[in-house]
Amino acid sequence: MSQPFLADKIKERARALGFNLIGLTPAAPSPHLLAYFRWLDAGQQGEMAYLSRPDRVARRRDLSAILPGARSLVIVGLDYHSLPLPPAALDDPARGRIAAYAWGQDYHRLMLPRLNELAAWMQAESRAAVKSRAYVDTGALLERSHAQQAGLGFTGKNTMLINPRRGSDFFLGELLTDAVFDAYDHPQREGLCGRCTRCLSACPTQAFPEPYVLDSRRCISYLTIEHRGWIDRTLRPQMGNWVFGCDVCQVVCPWQRFAIRTEETAFYPLDLDRAAPPLTQLLSLTAARFEAAYAGTALERAGRDQLVRNACVAAANGAQVACAPLLANLLDDPSPIVRGHAAWALSRLLGAGAASRLRAALERETDSDARLELELALGQ
Ligand code: SF4
Ligand code: SF4
Repeated sequence: MSQPFLADKIKERARALGFNLIGLTPAAPSPHLLAYFRWLDAGQQGEMAYLSRPDRVARRRDLSAILPGARSLVIVGLDYHSLPLPPAALDDPARGRIAAYAWGQDYHRLMLPRLNELAAWMQAESRAAVKSRAYVDTGALLERSHAQQAGLGFTGKNTMLINPRRGSDFFLGELLTDAVFDAYDHPQREGLCGRCTRCLSACPTQAFPEPYVLDSRRCISYLTIEHRGWIDRTLRPQMGNWVFGCDVCQVVCPWQRFAIRTEETAFYPLDLDRAAPPLTQLLSLTAARFEAAYAGTALERAGRDQLVRNACVAAANGAQVACAPLLANLLDDPSPIVRGHAAWALSRLLGAGAASRLRAALERETDSDARLELELALGQ
């Protein structure tokens, strides 16, 4: 058995690597597992079926199923609170809105190498072999729950981890390790929302059936990023101009007044047109243009078709009649999902004025779901 690591030393090393928060907690099962299983049973994970795979569930119950001999979790936080964009640009219905965390470079690319460097440093410092696995947002761990146990914050009614000294604008990463430490952090006290319900009432799609429970199937963040298929027609009109993520329930939170501007310039907006892109730009995206504009950013995860799909919805919601010619072109897009959402948007924008274009598209449409969208758009 190797000597315990000094908690102060690893924290010093993590800070030197640029992490803003660091906490240590034993690799015990999450105390929020029961609530998590209830959430899965209710189907509120939407299409993220991988979350309820038996192997995933087993690993969440017992972290040694991920890393044999796991003893500790090192949890880090990295601020992303960024330079503000002009509010006029964010609220401009001619632009697509992107959640602030995705304005700059993809955080996975920054955090994973640093976590691996931290693991390598632990190995170099130890006389015995140290096994560690790094995670950033992979879903292998209930990271917010473990982060609360490691003292990094409390769970808000908006289900975000909130640090009482810096709000919720930080990314989480973890090292699961078989190392032990000479001291562990105390869990952060829960229930600091008090009687506040701002996030619950501000959510544009009413995605919180109750405090602390998020129904992903209604969440704009899920709908624009994780959800690959057809967006529920009743939810589309509630999505405003969001085209990638949503941070309404964070922005309205009173704890956000403590948010700290990140020193990571990689998270700053690359430029206005990439952080709040004109819808005309999004509706003309080809695969090559998407790659040129968004390689290395979190938007890569959504992919071109989804971003264009989301832009169709945003154009209709913002009454962007100037987008109609681009939407008409998208009736011939290779993606049936794009074709169908373009049809919905065109009929919302032009009403009967779109009928001839939609009828012509229906005559040549071969995909059954896209045909249904066209028929509904024509009021058939
Ligand atoms: Fe609602 Fe947006 Fe928060 Fe999702 S991210 S729960 S849509 S406010
Ligand atoms: Fe809690 Fe209010 Fe923040 Fe929601 S807005 S997470 S209720 S403090």
